[in-house]
Amino acid sequence: MTGSSPKVVGLTGGIGSGKSTVAEMFRDLGIHFVDADTVAREVVEPGTVALGDIAGHFGPQILTDDGRLDRAALRTIVFNAPSERVWLETLLHPIIREELARQLQPEHYAEPYVLLVSPLLLETDQHALVDRVVVVDVPVERQIERTAARDNNSPDQVERIIAAQMPREQRLQRADDVIDNQAPRDQVRQQVAALHQRYVSDFS
Ligand code: ADP
Repeated sequence: MTGSSPKVVGLTGGIGSGKSTVAEMFRDLGIHFVDADTVAREVVEPGTVALGDIAGHFGPQILTDDGRLDRAALRTIVFNAPSERVWLETLLHPIIREELARQLQPEHYAEPYVLLVSPLLLETDQHALVDRVVVVDVPVERQIERTAARDNNSPDQVERIIAAQMPREQRLQRADDVIDNQAPRDQVRQQVAALHQRYVSDFS
């Protein structure tokens, strides 16, 4: 132990850019990650305050028969009503951020840094939780091709999701470091190893 608290490195990128793949590569090197998508699901588990608020606002039909959030129904509502999207984000973003901050607390980690993996790192104030930003980058064509293959979606559907996210250039401008995930996996792993070494030496 060096006595200094671990830094938080934010890992972001568009849908299908390879965030999860790269996060696993860091994990293989002994670095933990907190996944914002996982936390976003945890905060609306049955019994949470947030799920109670959502059911109070949209009515019980937003719950499935076993009392869980009906995500598909919620997606349809917020897709068709921007003001409902704002309501939902105003409720959930602070709750998600608080839970992320809790899970990222230094006492949980002995390593010199921990990753926060989030598709919305730069779009929300989650970026205030991180000391450094690393962007996983691929050209849009590759993003479409890989996401469509992974999720069994049509390229059109994927294109619409990409259009709703931060544009590639804008995301890259906010990056402290970039991982080029266009390359084959073994080359990406080498980039991750090099970055890891730099972080360890910078943050120890
Ligand atoms: P994200 O978490 O950013 O949505 P994923 O890590 O799930 O992206 O990657 C999207 C898809 O692309 C997955 O099916 C993954 O296996 C694949 N993939 C990721 N990186 C590479 C790569 N370097 N070469 C080939 N396929 C990749």
